[in-house]
Amino acid sequence: MSGDEPDELLARLRAYEGRAAAVSCVGKDRVNLPMIRHWCEAMGDTNPAYEGPEAVAPATMLQAWTMGGLSGNETRTAAFDELSALLDEAGCISIVATDCEQEYLRPLRPGDEITFDTVIETVSERKTTKLGSGYFITTRTDMRVGSRLAGTHRFRMLKYAPHAPARAKRNTPRPRRPRPVVNRDNAGFWEGVDRHELLIQRCTGCGTLRHPWLPGCNSCGCLDWDTVRASGEGTVYSYVVMHHPPFPAFDPPYAVALVELAEGVRMVSNVVGVPYDKVRVGLPVRVEFRRYDDESTAGSEGAGGVQGDGVLLPVFRAAEGEA
Ligand code: ZN
Repeated sequence: MSGDEPDELLARLRAYEGRAAAVSCVGKDRVNLPMIRHWCEAMGDTNPAYEGPEAVAPATMLQAWTMGGLSGNETRTAAFDELSALLDEAGCISIVATDCEQEYLRPLRPGDEITFDTVIETVSERKTTKLGSGYFITTRTDMRVGSRLAGTHRFRMLKYAPHAPARAKRNTPRPRRPRPVVNRDNAGFWEGVDRHELLIQRCTGCGTLRHPWLPGCNSCGCLDWDTVRASGEGTVYSYVVMHHPPFPAFDPPYAVALVELAEGVRMVSNVVGVPYDKVRVGLPVRVEFRRYDDESTAGSEGAGGVQGDGVLLPVFRAAEGEA
């Protein structure tokens, strides 16, 4: 980093080294077998040392005994928030946890009451990373049982100014959408799309409809099938709004919906015709076929045909609230 300003900031940040971030905290629960059992089940750890009357807690549970839960720890000081605010003002508005280190000095047993203090141990010089440029902050929490140190937990995070998105670079051609993977099991679906038909597979053994396309019937195992043409009417059964991570060819935020067709099967697609924040569960939608990435028909919708480099995809237009 060049210039005097970052050095001046670093001096202000380093004034927080050694300051307490949390003082005289008490673990919300004493070390106990139910929490140990939940941990071991989540980790798939069947070591018998963690069971029975002589049980000890897994050493790596150390931090779990200090966690404040949703209601938090009331004994936090203002120091960490002040440090964080200084970095926000300097443009380091993003934060990511990078790593932790633990030392185990004595085993913890059911009944032990944990007390702990946290100190802001170090603030690094300004570093440039793949994510952006900023400062690594390391805190150290000392856990005690009575007056004896039981373990330490060093936690490191990067508080940084994110790089501008790569897409902002000029003259970068817009990435193309990923192409559907067409195989012999689903080729009929995409042939239907080329004709602007949304085809649903139907088991000729039991009549069950299915999507996505599969070689056999999940209900009866029959391998014979035909198709029915969907009406194209449906409703949003569920959805997510994608903000992050960015994918080439997509401009977040955008909604990805699980659409339930009138015939009962569901498919994943985009909802068009309404802003992403107007997509909702139950929203009526209707299929349309939209061509993407076709230079010769840029910006057109439902251009038809399969010529050119573009890809024709079924998407769902909101049947209300046209934008
Ligand atoms: Zn069947």
